[in-house]
Order: sequence, then C-alpha cells, then structure tokens
Amino acid sequence: MRLRFILSFLILTISACSKVEKAANQLVKRSEKEIYQNERNISDEIFEIWESRIDKALKDSIQIEIPYNETGNFKPRNFAIYSYNTYLLPGEVLQVKIITDSSVTMVFPELYRFTKTENTYDKIKSGNPEKNQLQHEVVEKGLYKIIIQPEIEANTPFKILIDKNPAYIFPVASGKNSDIGSYWGDIRDGGARLHKGIDIFAEKGTPVIASTKGRIKFTGEKGLGGKQIWLKDNKRGNSLYYAHLDSIIPDIKKVEPGDTIGFVGNTGNAKFTPPHLHFGIYQNRNGAIDPLGYVYLNEESANEISERESALRLSVLTSKAKFRNKPASNNSKIIKTGKAGEILYVQGKTADWFHIRDSLDRSMYIHESEVKPAD
Ligand SMILES: [Zn+2]
Repeated sequence: MRLRFILSFLILTISACSKVEKAANQLVKRSEKEIYQNERNISDEIFEIWESRIDKALKDSIQIEIPYNETGNFKPRNFAIYSYNTYLLPGEVLQVKIITDSSVTMVFPELYRFTKTENTYDKIKSGNPEKNQLQHEVVEKGLYKIIIQPEIEANTPFKILIDKNPAYIFPVASGKNSDIGSYWGDIRDGGARLHKGIDIFAEKGTPVIASTKGRIKFTGEKGLGGKQIWLKDNKRGNSLYYAHLDSIIPDIKKVEPGDTIGFVGNTGNAKFTPPHLHFGIYQNRNGAIDPLGYVYLNEESANEISERESALRLSVLTSKAKFRNKPASNNSKIIKTGKAGEILYVQGKTADWFHIRDSLDRSMYIHESEVKPAD
C-alpha cells in the first residue's frame, strides 16, 4: 500500500503529461476513487471522510424492489451516500444509472454481494463514474447491495434509476410473464421431486425460440421431456433445455437469438396437461439452476419518474410517524417511530416516500403524509 503510494507519487512528480499519468494509473492500478482524488487535488483528510462513508453504507439496511427510482439533490460537502439492498437471480442484468443536471458531476456506483459464511458484503463491481452508471449480469443468486456515492462537491439535482432486464429472450414467441404457470422448485409427483425449470403455457404450435446465440447440441424424443432441444450457450456455459415440444425444426446447428427452433406441444409426461414449454437451464458446475431471472421480462421500467423534491430537511408531524426499511406500507419493517418535531435529512424521494437519514445517520423511508418541510 505504502510502496504503491510512493511509486505513484514519484511517477506523478516526474510527469505532468496526462498521457504518462494515465499510464501511471494503470501501472499502480489505482482505483477510480484514487484517480478522482488525484485529479481534483482533494486533501487526504477530506478524502478519508468521504471514503469512510462506504462503511456506513455497508451497515445500512433499506431494501428496494426493482425497478426503482429516486429523485433529489446532491449538495456539496454533505457526504451523502445511498445504499439499497435487493435480491437478485442469475441471468438478471442489473442497470444502475444516475442522471444529473451537470455533465461534469461524477457519481460512483458500486455493487456488493452478501456472503453468509463471512457475514460481510464483498465488492464485485465498480461502475463508471464518468458515465454515472453500472451494469452487471448476475451469476449467483443472493442478497446484493447497490451503493451510490456522489463526488464531494456535487451540486445538482439527480435521478437514480435502477432497472433489471433478462439476459435472454423470452423462449416462447409473444409470451409474457403471466404465461408462466409453474416455477422453479414447485412440487412434482407428490413431493418425490421438485420442478427443475419453469413452465410457459401457450397454444399448441406457438413458435419456441432460441433465447440466446448458441449451438444445438441435441434434438429428439425421450423420457419425461418428450420432444426436446438442448441449446448450448458457450459464452456463459449454460445448457438450455426446451421440453414437451410438438415438433422441432430439423437440421439446425447454430442459432441466433430469436430464431424459431420448434413449436409448443405436450409430448412426454405433459400428455395430460395443456400445451406448454418446459424451460430449464443447466450448468456443469451447479446442475439445474432457476432460469427465471434469465427470461423474466421487465414489464415496467424505472423511467416513469415522479416530480423532484427540493426540501433538504423535514420535520416529523406526529409521534405516530413510522420509519420503514422499504418504501411501502406492506411487507416493510418498522425500524422506529418518530417524535413530533424530529428533524430528518432528505436523501431523496421515491413515489410518496421520502428516503431520509435521522440524527443517528440511519437510512430509512417515511411517508410524505407524516412530515413537513423544515427549512
Ligand atoms: Zn416443467
């Protein structure tokens, strides 16, 4: 660490040229944040305060459903930090975007994953602070934490947009989420086995399509699956299993996403059930995995945004005010109840909910009807 610092210091003092500086950044593998400190000449004291906000964010526990949006204002030197927990499935492509009114404002999005055995969050990706965005295709299911930190002097209104899209195309032509009639883990044969995929119901003869680019490894009729296709996605090491087909397009080897490869039917053990596609994903390392995240459509996006909120501080109206871990009255945990007149610091707003921090720096949500502007 120290050596790295001295080395980078040396390189920087001997070179004022930005090209060499860029090379220096690569040589010592400086993080985006260290580069930012350097370029903006931020003192170590201020930088450390700013950087240590991550420790706070790692302890925050508010939870969101995606799509999620929040609007508010970044203010200079208030060291705001935003952190959201959310569960993600393999095949979901997470997209975090921060839109500001200033083209030069840097925002640092980061993604962490919770590790049960160590009881910690490990950083798995840093986004691009110049484009103010982060994208990540989830490989392992679990609890994730999205952290968003504006640069120290940021002074602009913002919109945070968090979306997720499936990595694959929906495997049934013109299909939608509501056509999925059975999910991963549903009980089969009275509990003797569990469902190792999802069932997508459609009329007999509806085209079944290649969800991704790949190679057809097997087509034929056998076992419970009846007429079936195995498609190999070499990029991810996934084998896609299409079962109960009525018929299969003959002689196909390479496919592009969207190619028709067969037609929905009820062959195999689906003989007495309505026609549907059984869709599964297998990995060499893990066997069958839940395919839902790979194909579940994003039917609403985070872009439909509410009006911007300009209050910076709020005052709690009654002692009945409830602070919650989610921006919702249902299925949310009440973290505490308020005191009338308690002052809250506004992080942002999502629909009818304020995202706030209280005097103990705890991140929570409170309904707009329970507060008034304090400024
Ligand atoms: Zn099935």
